[in-house]
Amino acid sequence: MAIVEAAPATSDGRRHFTVRSPATLESIGEFRAANAADVNQAVARARAAQPAWAALGPRGRAAHLDRARAYLVTHLEEFAERIIADTGRSRTETVMMEIMSACDVLQYCAKRAPKILRDRRVRMHLMPHKKLRIVCRPLGVVGIIAPWNGPFIMGLDPTAQALVAGNAVLLKPSEITPLAGRLTADLFRAVGLPEGVLQVLDGDGETGAALVEAGVDKIAFTGSTRTGRKVAEACARQLIPCSLELGGKDAMIVCEDAHVERAVGGAVFGAMFNAGQYCCSTERVYVAEAVAEPFIQGVVEKVKSLRQATEGEFDVGPMIMPSQLEVIERHMADALAKGAKVLVGGRRRAELGPNFYEPTVLVDVTHEMLIMREETFGPILPIMRIQDDREALALANDSSYGLSGTVWSRSEARGLGLAREMETGSVCVNEASMTFGAAEAPFGGWKSSGVGQVHGENGLKGYCREQSIILDRFGLREEHNWYPLTREKGDVFARMARWVWGTPIGRWMS
Ligand code: NDP
Repeated sequence: MAIVEAAPATSDGRRHFTVRSPATLESIGEFRAANAADVNQAVARARAAQPAWAALGPRGRAAHLDRARAYLVTHLEEFAERIIADTGRSRTETVMMEIMSACDVLQYCAKRAPKILRDRRVRMHLMPHKKLRIVCRPLGVVGIIAPWNGPFIMGLDPTAQALVAGNAVLLKPSEITPLAGRLTADLFRAVGLPEGVLQVLDGDGETGAALVEAGVDKIAFTGSTRTGRKVAEACARQLIPCSLELGGKDAMIVCEDAHVERAVGGAVFGAMFNAGQYCCSTERVYVAEAVAEPFIQGVVEKVKSLRQATEGEFDVGPMIMPSQLEVIERHMADALAKGAKVLVGGRRRAELGPNFYEPTVLVDVTHEMLIMREETFGPILPIMRIQDDREALALANDSSYGLSGTVWSRSEARGLGLAREMETGSVCVNEASMTFGAAEAPFGGWKSSGVGQVHGENGLKGYCREQSIILDRFGLREEHNWYPLTREKGDVFARMARWVWGTPIGRWMS
């Protein structure tokens, strides 16, 4: 993956970064971090471009997304290569996680947004002489701050939704993955998106902070809970909405009636996908004592079979953000000091490169350990034995996070029952966490995992203002409740209240 380093300050006073290939150490690019003045100018350009974009209507805007989808399908390999250069992931994982999801969100929005965003007529329950129309209007200019763990999809996904809803977008990718971060803009430029409607702001956290303060109409942020809090505070001060997709500590509950082989596959995939750098990664497992032996044995065997490499066919890639290794090692050291046992893995793989950590399985873990409480965001799978569903639920819910989770049982009723009691925004039963990839499923975290929802109708409408317009039907000279407020009118209203809300027929009609 690319090595990003701050370059010496230049005469323009801006922060510069160089991007080098880790293999050859050759320079493969550079970027200049946008400062507050650059961000403000970009907002002005976006404001100027947005009305014409909104005027295209949902169908006109959807046509651009449709062209972007077609372009991406045709240039799949080129996009995948650029993502791999920034992340070091395998081609298969890149196509699955980034390209297929990108095609799907573009297709989903292009096909369904015109219906979701169209005007709705609602019958008014008490005032049949009025008409109510609910209109979705764009917010205006949306700022999107994207992370490095899915450097293309995590920027493209909110961008596609915000654009089809009629907004102009300013996208700030992570400085850790600058090359892949620009792909969203490259894609839309290639299909002729009007100038100014989507702009990418290269930069670091300071650029992100400037964007939050630049007078945009919404911030869609994905990243850590710590930074998410700062973003929320700034948005609250300006009274603008924000969606915060933050960290997680997803629990997996394996009941004694689970299909063990399937649960083993789901646990390993859920924990090791993208080397654990996924907000809905399986970060802790609670397995029923009755199936603990075969489950743990199966997991260990499967993890031992995972291949790590830098090229060719492999399963688990490196840490994309180098400092993530320090988090992993801190959590591991804490767990081992408190009695955890490593069954497989547990060390760096320096022979592959500086950012590789072995897929790791831990047992004898407790909730006193960081590894069971804080987001690790790495290829680590701690497993804890439990006696029954109640204990599993209590432990799963004993977390400051509430993003997602999984339940494994042959009984759908039991799985559903446990899912309903999990304190998380989404749950998968007998499936590794896949809700983020389901465009129709509202996705959002509870507790410290976030605010608001992305995807589904709610997510798309989150990039709009719903406006209620009431229209008078008959054009009478005046309404009964207008001035003067006479005593006789008061008597009529009192009789009306007694009849409408005090009689069965009135309540049936209201
Ligand atoms: P951050 O939350 O610090 O960064 C996320 C994004 O916000 C980046 O684009 C970052 O820019 C930007 N940013 C940083 N500071 C500010 C600010 N004050 N105002 C506005 N934007 C800002 O996450 P990290 O990348 O440092 O990762 C830390 C941890 O976050 C990980 O260990 C992981 O636990 C979690 N994480 C969760 C993700 C998820 O999907 N929910 C995704 C990524 C990380 P820049 O990178 O240029 O500083």
